[in-house]
Amino acid sequence: MSLYYKVTSTQPASHIFEIELILSNPQSKIHKLHLPTWIPGSYLIREFAKNIIDVSAYDSDGALSIYKTDKCTWEIQTQSSDAHILYRVYAWDLSVRMAHLDQSHAYFNGTSLFLSVEGLEDQPHTVELVAPKGTKNWKVATTLPKLEGRLYEFGLYQAETYDALIDHPVEMGTFELLHFEACGVPHEVALTGIQKTNEYRLCTDLEKICRYFIEFFGEPAPMDRYLFQVMVVGTGYGGLEHRASTSLICSRKDLPQQKFQSAKGGYLKFLGLCSHEYFHTWNVKQIKPEAYLPYDLSKEAYSVQLWAFEGITSYYDDLCLKRCGIIDKEAYLELIAKTISRVLSTPGRHVQSVADSSFDTWIKFYRQDENAPNSLISYYAKGSLIALCLDLHLRLHSDISLDDVMKALWNEYGKPQIGVPEDGIQALAERLSGLELNSFFHSYVYGTEELPLETLLNAFAITLNTRPKVSNSDAGGSASAKAESTLTSGWLGATFSSASAGAKLRNVYTGSPAQLAGMSANDVVIAIDNIKVDSKTIFDRILGYPAGAIVKVHAFRRDELHVFDVVLQSPPCDKAYLTLKRDATEEEITRLNHWLR
Ligand code: ZN
Repeated sequence: MSLYYKVTSTQPASHIFEIELILSNPQSKIHKLHLPTWIPGSYLIREFAKNIIDVSAYDSDGALSIYKTDKCTWEIQTQSSDAHILYRVYAWDLSVRMAHLDQSHAYFNGTSLFLSVEGLEDQPHTVELVAPKGTKNWKVATTLPKLEGRLYEFGLYQAETYDALIDHPVEMGTFELLHFEACGVPHEVALTGIQKTNEYRLCTDLEKICRYFIEFFGEPAPMDRYLFQVMVVGTGYGGLEHRASTSLICSRKDLPQQKFQSAKGGYLKFLGLCSHEYFHTWNVKQIKPEAYLPYDLSKEAYSVQLWAFEGITSYYDDLCLKRCGIIDKEAYLELIAKTISRVLSTPGRHVQSVADSSFDTWIKFYRQDENAPNSLISYYAKGSLIALCLDLHLRLHSDISLDDVMKALWNEYGKPQIGVPEDGIQALAERLSGLELNSFFHSYVYGTEELPLETLLNAFAITLNTRPKVSNSDAGGSASAKAESTLTSGWLGATFSSASAGAKLRNVYTGSPAQLAGMSANDVVIAIDNIKVDSKTIFDRILGYPAGAIVKVHAFRRDELHVFDVVLQSPPCDKAYLTLKRDATEEEITRLNHWLR
C-alpha cells in the first residue's frame, strides 16, 4: 500500500486548498486517518482539523463511506481498489504555524494539510504539488525532497515518513530567491512579500551565522541543504524551526538596506531570529526531550526542559552574533542586559520556575492573559540567563563550558536520535565537569531563586548595574541620564496600552500602588488629578510626582467610572545595563575574552 497526496487549489483567492489522498492497494480494511492537533515547536493545541471544510471518498466502485470518530480522526472502509480521499482546507492564517493561501502566494505546514494514515506513518509519503489555478510564474520553495524534476518547480516530492512530511513547510509563489553556501552546504533565502533588501549584506551575515553553528557542532551538518522561508509584512515577527528550514515572519523595515553600516535595531533582531531558528536545527530538531521521541501530535507532550531547548537556544542566538563578528562586545552586553531587564521586570519569576513554565507551556506561556507577568516566567528569557549562568559557572569552576555540554548532547543524544531524559542535561554537565550541580539546578531551574548574575559576571570583568525605567518604551540595556532623578519619582506599577480615550492598563503588578488602590488590568485611565491622560502621556505624568504622593485617578471599568486614590511608590530598579570593570584583573579579562572569543 502506498500514500500519494495531491495538493492544489481551483480557488486560491478563497483561501481553499484541495487535497486528494490516494491509498493504493488498500485492501478490504478500516483505515484511521488523523490530523495533528499541534505543530512541533509551538506548544499549544491548535486543532488544525477545524480548518477542514469537508471530506469525501470514492474508489472504482463509487462513493466510499468516511466518517469522523473524534475531532481530528476519520475512519474509512476501503476495498481492494485504490481509495481516493478528497478534502478541502481553509488556509487564511498568516503565521508560521498553519497555512495561508491567496492569489499572491501559498504557504503551508504539513500539519495543516496532510492526514496521516494510522500504521503507515513510517512509509514514504509522495506529494504532488500542482500550481493553483490562475497563477503565473509561481515557483516552489521547500526542503521537501524532490522526487523528480528540478528544484523550485511544481511536481512530485517525497518524504521518507509522515514525521518528515510535516517538517518541510512549503512556500509557493513569486518569491525572491537568494543563495549562499556555508561549509559547502547550499543555503537559500526565499523572500515573499513586497520588499527591497540588500541581498549581499543579508547573505554575508547569514553565512557567518550558519558557518559558525555548523563548525560549532562539527561537520558534516545534519542537513544537505537549508532554506530560510521569509514572509515580509508591514509589522510582524516570528519563526518556527524545522529540520532543514525555518519559516520566518519579519517587518519590511527590519531587512537590511543599502546604507546599513552595522547590524542594529530591527535588522539585528531579525538576524537574532535567524540565528535562533538555525541553532534549533541541532537543539530540539535533533537533540530533543524523550517526550518528543516520537511526537504524539494527538495531545500535549510534557517536558520540563523547554528552558534548555528554548533558553539555551536563546542564549546562543545572540552569543553567536558576537562570536562570528556581526556585533561587538558592547552590543552583545546590551543584548544580555535587555534580557536581564525583561526578567527583572517580571514578578512571576518569584512564583514559577522555568521547569514549571516549560511543563505548563500548553496552558500558561502560550495562553498568556493580563495576569501573566505576575504568575509566570518566560523559559526563553530566564532560560537564556540560566544558560549564561551555567556557562559562566562551568568556565569558572571547571575545565569545560556550556559549549562542551552542547557538543556532547549532540554526539550522545542528537546524532544517535536518543531522547534526552528530563534530568539528562544536569547529569551530562556534572559528568563532563566533575562538578556537583544539584544546588544550581535546584535553585535556578526547579526553584525561583534570583540568578547569581552579578557575582558571575563580575568574575568575567563585567559589572551588572540596575536603574529604574525612565520611559514607557524603556527596555533597559543601556545607562540613562534620567535614571538618577527617576529614583525618587512616583511609580504606579502598571503597563499601558492605548485606548480610544485614555490609557488602558495592560498589566497591573502584584503589590503595586495601582493594585493596592484597587485598580485592575483593562481599566482605562482618563485623568490623573483631574487632568486628562492617554497612553503617551501617563508615564511621564506619574514620573512628575514624587514617591509617596497621593494622586486621584479617574478610570473606566467597562462603562462605569471609578475614582481611585493611589499612593505612589518609588520605582523598582529593574532595568539592567552592563559595563566593563575598570579595575578588572588580568585573569578576569582573559576569562571574558575566552568566553566571547
Ligand atoms: Zn525557539
